Amino acid sequence: MRYHGPDSLQKGVFQLTKKRHNNSPISKNQLIDLTITGLSHEGNGVGRYGDMVVFVSMAAPGDALRVKIVKVLSTHAFAIIHAILTPSTHRIADDCPVYSRCGGCSLRHLSYDAEITVKSGWVTDNLRRIGGVVLPMDAPLPSPHSARYRNKAQYPIRRVNGRLCAGFFARRSHALVPVTDCLLQPAIFSAITAAFLSFLESHDIEPYDEADHSGLIRHLYLRRAGATGQVMVCIVVNGAAVPHEEALVAALLAAYPDIATVVLNTNRRRDNVILGDHQRNLYGNGTISDILCGVKVTLSPASFYQVNREAAENLYQKALEYADPGPDDILLDLYCGTGTIGLSMAARVGHLIGVELAGSAVRDARLNAAQNGVANAAFIEADAGDVLSVAGERPTIVVLDPPRKGVDKGTLEAVAAMGPKKIVYISCNSATLARDCAILAALGYKAVKAGAVDMFPRTAHVEAVALLEQVL
Ligand code: SAH
Repeated sequence: MRYHGPDSLQKGVFQLTKKRHNNSPISKNQLIDLTITGLSHEGNGVGRYGDMVVFVSMAAPGDALRVKIVKVLSTHAFAIIHAILTPSTHRIADDCPVYSRCGGCSLRHLSYDAEITVKSGWVTDNLRRIGGVVLPMDAPLPSPHSARYRNKAQYPIRRVNGRLCAGFFARRSHALVPVTDCLLQPAIFSAITAAFLSFLESHDIEPYDEADHSGLIRHLYLRRAGATGQVMVCIVVNGAAVPHEEALVAALLAAYPDIATVVLNTNRRRDNVILGDHQRNLYGNGTISDILCGVKVTLSPASFYQVNREAAENLYQKALEYADPGPDDILLDLYCGTGTIGLSMAARVGHLIGVELAGSAVRDARLNAAQNGVANAAFIEADAGDVLSVAGERPTIVVLDPPRKGVDKGTLEAVAAMGPKKIVYISCNSATLARDCAILAALGYKAVKAGAVDMFPRTAHVEAVALLEQVL
């Protein structure tokens, strides 16, 4: 096993080879001292003990620690902090009482400056190591806000030790960690949630119990449109109705006039999917409106929407800068969702084509185009892999914004076969972005610019964007 990480925030990357440690120098429950030299892409501190790499949760690069080993595997071990011997200069006091238990954040103990440097380093390293892309990277774009930046929360509602609670599941678990005020969410979400729980309590309305599929209230799903302030309350239930619906709506509206709509969603399934297929509006029309890069967007509970609106504007701005379109360009927005990226560029291009698999998102994209008076766009419901046959026109610029697994090879081949002069690739997983850059390189597209854009402060997630140009 080799650890390839110098003592810097920029290069916290490591590689584990398959060499086995039959004489493992450490064992479970042992206390050892080590210095943290980098951060894994999951946000764990990385240290070295003899020949072993040790991953330590909530550790910061530069920390000198006494850690307790909790798991030893053939190539590496996991540990928790027993004592901080000398804190890293990048360490800050974590300010959330459930940080160690909740599955949401992993980097609250780091200064935001250090977090940005680390995340940009992850993108650079993945591009180099997996994609063979070596570039002077653009300066990373931090999120305009590192606290309360989210516009969407889906709180499971459960009974914990007899008490009715909202919260989040612990990492890799369905054990509810009660959370009264998540510091990533707008403060109004905490207030609405508290009022909702107290209504349930006073009307003896039971939460869902996964063990026997009993109880009514599964999730409280809240969304807030940053530009308009409108709030959507969506109550997900294991049934068709909530007792005292009118009184519930009246209580919420009286206290929180920003609530623009209240929706009841029925989900009787036993799986982990949050929303069911059926919904009924208890108040308002079931949607709220936001503005993203000047585009008016209508959001229903099921619509995909970037959770950090202001950082998404940074991301789209960067994508526009990379695309640098003109009136003769035909822009293909592949994996377009509700069309927001393409629509934000529509005024600059001759024609916009959006392709997206989810029918509801395509309908939203068409509605968004219409309500913004965009007349040069067409949105097509199709698998990205079929783009050659459905796109109609040959695009000159392609924007790719796939899910975490990236773009499959056949789709990349189809994109390259259309011969666009530029590909702007937006990714929430720089490992698959890097893999796809390598495939595109073999298809005649060279990465010429790239950078990290942070949309998810305090978590181990980061967006990356790359510009690839056709090599003639
Ligand atoms: N560009 C949009 C959405 C990106 S999320 C935005 O910024 O808001 C990725 C999108 O890819 C989702 O809307 C998902 O439904 C879509 N998708 C996933 N697999 C797909 C496929 N095989 N073909 C087309 N679209 C797909």
